[in-house]
Amino acid sequence: MLSPREAVRTMPSYHPPLAGREGLRLDFNENTSGCSPRVLEQLRRLTNEQLAKYPERAPVEACVADFLKVSSNEILLTNGVDEAIHLLCQTYIEPGDEALIVVPTYAMYRIYASAAAAKVIVVPAGRDFEFPIREVMARLTPRTRLVAIANPNNPTGTVVSRKDLIHITRAAPDAAVLVDEAYFEFYGQTALGTGDGLPNLFVARTFSKAYGLAGLRVGALVGEAEQMQSIRSVASPYNVNAVALACLPQALADQDYIREYVGEVKESRARLESALAAYGVQFWPSQANFVLARIGACAADAARFVERMRRGGILVRDRSSDHGCAGCVRITLGPRRHGDLLLDALQSAFEELGIAQGVARP
Ligand code: PMP
Repeated sequence: MLSPREAVRTMPSYHPPLAGREGLRLDFNENTSGCSPRVLEQLRRLTNEQLAKYPERAPVEACVADFLKVSSNEILLTNGVDEAIHLLCQTYIEPGDEALIVVPTYAMYRIYASAAAAKVIVVPAGRDFEFPIREVMARLTPRTRLVAIANPNNPTGTVVSRKDLIHITRAAPDAAVLVDEAYFEFYGQTALGTGDGLPNLFVARTFSKAYGLAGLRVGALVGEAEQMQSIRSVASPYNVNAVALACLPQALADQDYIREYVGEVKESRARLESALAAYGVQFWPSQANFVLARIGACAADAARFVERMRRGGILVRDRSSDHGCAGCVRITLGPRRHGDLLLDALQSAFEELGIAQGVARP
């Protein structure tokens, strides 16, 4: 009987709750106000000829390279950051090699590393989810072939210093060190430009979050030219579709849109954080477009809150099953008007569930 490889049979599964997402979707860290109108105009201009042709990635890659101030041979456009993670695993991991992650973090690192038959080394984050640099350094071995770090991290919104990233990259020259900057725009600090003399450092960016193009599936992986050549050889020449490629230059060109959107999200983030503080609800200050909050002591509390919010028309994400996150939910921030809706819904949910510790709404 046909049977998948052992690594596939035994790997963990990841089923994001995608069905029935009606309401204000503050559960997947998406952009909730939609992409730049320039992208939609470009979509309307698409011709049937453009769709009939296989997509040509290189010219758009050059445009993104320019934007990121790297050269064209140092970048690969990918089908979202997810594909970038997958490609790194395919390029560097032999069965039994080690892939190191710090938990809680983005689920796909473990999935792709496991599918490549890596032994996944799991290092728990410190108290308040700070990056456990000492433990990470101690767990690096000559078999470490991938270290995947989200910066800012999902679901915690916490960050790692550039110094620590360099420290790890130097200490593990035989490992691909991925700095996943999916939430870069909300943070503003990057590991790009640190690469000189660090041929094993990779930086990933996405157009799924601030740019509002999660449905188009496009991201970018940046690394040393020679390494990128190997990674490119593993990818399909048509990995990014023609519609995404046609739209990307327009999305990049509208930096006013990004500035305005990111500004509003940061304002919503500050409002949510001060509301949570006033309600006496524990949360972790975030550098991303979401905040992790401990809504109760256990998974049932978080589930009750998520359900109550859903009835109020707002989807938030239960993160109770993540390491160290019992009773936690992750709430995505949107522009001001969505921030207003969120705070109203939060107030009634907290009152009904008796979560607020007797503090009036700020
Ligand atoms: N990295 C992180 C840290 C994320 O949180 C996500 C999305 N949740 C991704 C990557 C996936 O990004 P993309 O849509 O570009 O595949």
